Amino acid sequence: MLSEQIFLLDLGWLGGDIGWFLPGGPGCAMTFSNRNPERKWVEIPVSAAVIKHPDGNILFDTGISLQAMETHEKGLTEVFPIVRMSEDNRIEVQLQKIGMQPEDIDFIVISHLHLDHIGQLGVFLAHKTPILVQKRELESALFMLWQGKGGAYDFSDLEPLRNANWVPLDDHQFELVDGVNLEWTGGHTAGHQVMHVKTQSGRFYTFTGDYLHIPEEYALETKGWLLSDAEEWHTYIRKLKIIQKARKGQLVMGHDPDLWNKYPSAPDPLK
Ligand SMILES: [Zn+2]
Repeated sequence: MLSEQIFLLDLGWLGGDIGWFLPGGPGCAMTFSNRNPERKWVEIPVSAAVIKHPDGNILFDTGISLQAMETHEKGLTEVFPIVRMSEDNRIEVQLQKIGMQPEDIDFIVISHLHLDHIGQLGVFLAHKTPILVQKRELESALFMLWQGKGGAYDFSDLEPLRNANWVPLDDHQFELVDGVNLEWTGGHTAGHQVMHVKTQSGRFYTFTGDYLHIPEEYALETKGWLLSDAEEWHTYIRKLKIIQKARKGQLVMGHDPDLWNKYPSAPDPLK
């Protein structure tokens, strides 16, 4: 049995320099002939997805902590500040819109452990919900934090997750339930993974996490400063295009500035 319905949760907005996402355009490095390149500030949504499945409901990512501007490393929230957030962006409130409570989530899939993907994970700790993350991601995040080089990983998010019900994955592909496949991509972070979902209505969606932030990255096959391993990233992009073509798939980029014009937010399901 395949997935019945998919909902996208609206978990606020972040801002940042376009150069994080896209090299070569606005925000690019100075060159000999252009010492004054144009700079551009972009605002991107923070979102999560709920997959209603007969074998267990799945939550993909959990957004950013509502308190991040106070609790997180100042340097990090200066670079990626929360620009829009309200009580309505609490994950419990978003789940209520689709008639769910945190305990109705059977599996949590985390694309990677950056601040804007695990910020509201604490809500599920009391329920011991299994958290599926690539083993390499957990190792890498803790290693980097321990070196004082956390980047977009923050202790405020990771510290409360000690002894959480982690399910570390060390295989590149894992079918969680019928028609829901987790796939390691690397590229953005060492252990980044995406999620592919086949639905009962015959649709195929890929939730890209931050492997792709904005559609231009997919079209131009390039990524900005948020690239940890270019070789890994480029190894996957053509494969992703083949997968999308063969399955007539749709990409859901959770940070696409145009996300809410393309897809509805909860309580309306994806079509
Ligand atoms: Zn992100």
